Amino acid sequence: MSYLLRKRTMLIVRSFTILLLSCIAFKLACCFSSSISSLKALPLVGHLEFEDVHHASKDFGNRYQLIPLAVLHPKTVSDIASAIRHIWMMGPHSQLTVAARGRGHSLQGQAQTRHGVVIHMESLHPQKLQVYSMDAPAPYVDVSGGELWINILHETLKYGLAPKSWTDYLHLTVGGTLSNAGISGQAFRHGPQISNVHQLEIVTGKGEILNCSKRQNSDLFDGVLGGLGQFGIITRARIALEPAPTMVKWIRVLYLDFSAFAKDQEQLISAKGHKFDYIEGFVIINRTGLLNNWRLSFTPEEPLEASQFKSDGRTLYCLELAKYLKQDNKDVINQEVKETLSELSYVSSTLFSTEVTYEAFLDRVHVSEVKLRSKGQWEVPHPWLNLLVPRSTIREFAKGVFGNILTDTSNGPVIVYPVNKSKWDNQTSAVTPEEEVFYLVAILTSAVPGKEDGGVEQILKRNRRILEFSEEAGIGLKQYLPHYTTREEWRSHFGAKWGEFVRRKSRYDPLAILAPGQRIFEKAVSYS
Ligand code: FAD
Repeated sequence: MSYLLRKRTMLIVRSFTILLLSCIAFKLACCFSSSISSLKALPLVGHLEFEDVHHASKDFGNRYQLIPLAVLHPKTVSDIASAIRHIWMMGPHSQLTVAARGRGHSLQGQAQTRHGVVIHMESLHPQKLQVYSMDAPAPYVDVSGGELWINILHETLKYGLAPKSWTDYLHLTVGGTLSNAGISGQAFRHGPQISNVHQLEIVTGKGEILNCSKRQNSDLFDGVLGGLGQFGIITRARIALEPAPTMVKWIRVLYLDFSAFAKDQEQLISAKGHKFDYIEGFVIINRTGLLNNWRLSFTPEEPLEASQFKSDGRTLYCLELAKYLKQDNKDVINQEVKETLSELSYVSSTLFSTEVTYEAFLDRVHVSEVKLRSKGQWEVPHPWLNLLVPRSTIREFAKGVFGNILTDTSNGPVIVYPVNKSKWDNQTSAVTPEEEVFYLVAILTSAVPGKEDGGVEQILKRNRRILEFSEEAGIGLKQYLPHYTTREEWRSHFGAKWGEFVRRKSRYDPLAILAPGQRIFEKAVSYS
């Protein structure tokens, strides 16, 4: 009897569950089909794609995949504004969100949206890239938010000019890097890319098109820079330029000791009159035949001694420097470089240098990209970890991480260099440690199938160890290109800036339509 009763109850529960799920599925289907038909009715110069959307569900990290409802290929800024305004007018009950996608070089789905609209920013070319070279001594270029930095380099070089601050890799978009910071070896001198922008044109989360700068709508301007795409879509940017060099003297030297390496880096970034134009560095752990590889593109100052230097099994620190050359100042510059190098304490037999064009120097990572693509090693998972570490704890961090946790750097570079906080604008949304000098530490490991220690889970486990070690040792780091899953973690990441961040969100994107892939806010939920 009780058996029959139990069976009947289970049958009822099962039927009810199926009915409920069918209702949800039906409601979602209705919701999607009404969203699709209302989006299809938008008067656009560009177009919306509903079928071929899978490319927008992937990114460079190759670990997260959210399939969007549609991809917008905008031709004009009004296309972007109409789409966002339409979604804003649908109110809090529509599930639609919007993700601007630059080149999709994010690591954890930051440019993706589940069932929302991805905006393919590279389609946007409202006007030709325009260089204003006559405005010397402060020339600038106006570019679309979806423009690649490599294209900006090519165009501005025609005028003998170039942006001042870069990223190591130039096949990234203006909107994508300005939403983070844009850091490279020039940042110690000029600040990150977000410190080198005069003006922006923004489409907010309500679909308004606003111009902003330090003088006009400055709250929006500051918020968007380093704002992880939360307050608006960057459709145009005015970027500061400087006279471009023709050639670059590119130098590498090695250290056996982190403290000596860091001391020299810190001296170089603080030096009055800045002796170099670019300062970076990287860690090398357990690599064989390193200097022989360098010989393919660099020349040793002391060939015999260099050939006797053994890198095998060691942890080494490479200081990488560049000095920009102009035709008429080469000899003077070479003499200056020699004098500055003589004040540093690297292993003397490891001085290598070369001269390359400015363009080849800036586009150097693309050479590696081509090589890795040809070996099928570019489109692999990239569980990267990017950190900003205060100067006061970098030595302890290096001891714990480079000395104990990282055992090999053959699956990707580990970049380490200091920058000056005084070159960062604290009004922007970008988050950095509080100290005057802090280091970028970029652990850029690829999960290469078949390679020892190449598994994604193993690399993620190691990344977690690095974060746990840093937490326990009180390193006080901040994540760059941050990724968190809870509100508490985001609150702690932003620290004193959290209140301002939330206020700006409720002002410029009150329904939380924009950049849902950052996982900071959820659509139409209040978090104050
Ligand atoms: P996406 O990944 O497409 O977008 C990034 C975020 O910005 C997303 O949230 C997106 O919604 C938002 N977004 C995109 N466009 C806009 C827009 N127009 N308006 C508003 N929001 C927008 N970074 C450095 O700072 N220094 C480096 O040296 C450096 N080197 C790199 C090297 C490689 C090989 C790679 C893959 C990345 C590197 N990065 C570096 C990281 C890079 O800055 C980020 O990946 C950044 O996200 C830019 O990529 P993207 O243009 O493809 O943007």
